[in-house]
Amino acid sequence: DQIPVITIDGPSGAGKGTISKYVADKLGWHFLDSGAIYRVLALATIHHDIDPTDEGSVAPLASVLDVHFKSSLEDNQTRVILEGEDVTGAIRNEKVGAVASKVASLPRVREALLRRQRAFKEAPGLVADGRDMGTVVFPSAEVKIFLTASAEERAKRRYLQLKDSDPTVKIEHLLADIQARDERDSNRSVSPLVAAEDALEIDSTAMTIDEVVDKVFRFMQEKL
Ligand code: C5P
Repeated sequence: DQIPVITIDGPSGAGKGTISKYVADKLGWHFLDSGAIYRVLALATIHHDIDPTDEGSVAPLASVLDVHFKSSLEDNQTRVILEGEDVTGAIRNEKVGAVASKVASLPRVREALLRRQRAFKEAPGLVADGRDMGTVVFPSAEVKIFLTASAEERAKRRYLQLKDSDPTVKIEHLLADIQARDERDSNRSVSPLVAAEDALEIDSTAMTIDEVVDKVFRFMQEKL
């Protein structure tokens, strides 16, 4: 098939969400936030009181998960809907992120979510954001980016995002969480967080959003 895919993988807080969304909007392509799917699944396990490490219970839930994405014209945000309920805000907290990283380490869960993620590939093109977009979900993607930043920089960015809504937030806690999540995501046996061999690695620690986007577009012009 001829539908082009750009994959943007990397650790949490490296700026993948911002960059992917921007690139997708600019091109008028579809956008897959694969982390949101793992987060929704995490929220569903919490709602249904399921142990997130129990593969035999979480995998069947992943197969029947009633999740969809709705683009909202009002605020240009994608609303995330779980079982009819808008969970866009609810999936973004640290607790859900931690549970997401647990369910994401279960092989049968990842398997169950593969087809669903691939279904996002539709004309005229797709920008896919995650951990294993270029290695597992879309291995033949034309353009692969691996976006990183130092753990300290990522904690700082997260802190700036959270401090207004939560004045008690502590940068040391965020850094510890980020390091724990990196450790889990990089060392799991299925789909660990690694750069695809043919990915362009971009370290965004000292870069602005515009500089990163520029680099992505220049790489894309070489490849497409
Ligand atoms: O990117 P985000 O922080 O929203 O992802 C939440 C969690 O989902 C990550 O910590 C990671 O464990 C998991 N994830 C994954 N594979 C993806 C996307 C997210 O394992 N493609």
